[in-house]
Amino acid sequence: MDERIIDHIKKILPIPKIEDHKNVLCILPHPDDGEIGAGGTIAKLKSLGAKVRYIMVTDGSAGIRDKSREETREIRKKEQEKAAEILGVDEIIWLNYPDGGEYRIEDVKNDLKKHISLIDPDLIITVDPFLPYEAHPDHKNCGLAVAHVMMLYPKLVPIALFFTAYPNQFVCIDDYWEKKFEAVTAHESQVSGEILELYKGYFELKASVYGEKIGCKYAEAFKVMYPIMFHAFEEALWV
Ligand SMILES: [Zn+2]
Repeated sequence: MDERIIDHIKKILPIPKIEDHKNVLCILPHPDDGEIGAGGTIAKLKSLGAKVRYIMVTDGSAGIRDKSREETREIRKKEQEKAAEILGVDEIIWLNYPDGGEYRIEDVKNDLKKHISLIDPDLIITVDPFLPYEAHPDHKNCGLAVAHVMMLYPKLVPIALFFTAYPNQFVCIDDYWEKKFEAVTAHESQVSGEILELYKGYFELKASVYGEKIGCKYAEAFKVMYPIMFHAFEEALWV
């Protein structure tokens, strides 16, 4: 893409800074996604005085292989509540769709519409549904449902996508790294022992590589977009 076009877009439609928002809504496919992808940023937003709410789209009930869905749902809800409390999240709204994609995205969109117009957020944080090779139906459904709803929403609300291959913004989380991992660790059924160590190594390396880009030790990466960029916008990849 020609840089002249990208520079022009950046001038007429500057992407706002994540940390400048005060009423943040995180719309998340499963328990643990928010902490893994954006936990440091969420803790930072809270310490800057923002209100932060979670909408959990699914119940996480497919996340433990040797337990029933009912048992898994209970365990993962408790873990999510604990993790959110560690980060200081104000409220969790559970939509309770079954983990694994067996539901209609239209229903998710209708639920999101209701909650979003009540909450009236100034920033939405969710997963990037356009991550190359992403095959998980809950992640694709969640990100796409948000994009569809916000394209038709009367206000222009920026959307920060995490688990993205095309970040355009890095948030310094030097003071929140420990808290992020404390919250990730609360998801004991998903990450403990060896897996937690593997996660820590991988995420620490990534966070320091992202951190280098903005001159700090650790950062989280996002692709921040306006909803109008989700339609017939050829430059979306490069903004
Ligand atoms: Zn997930």
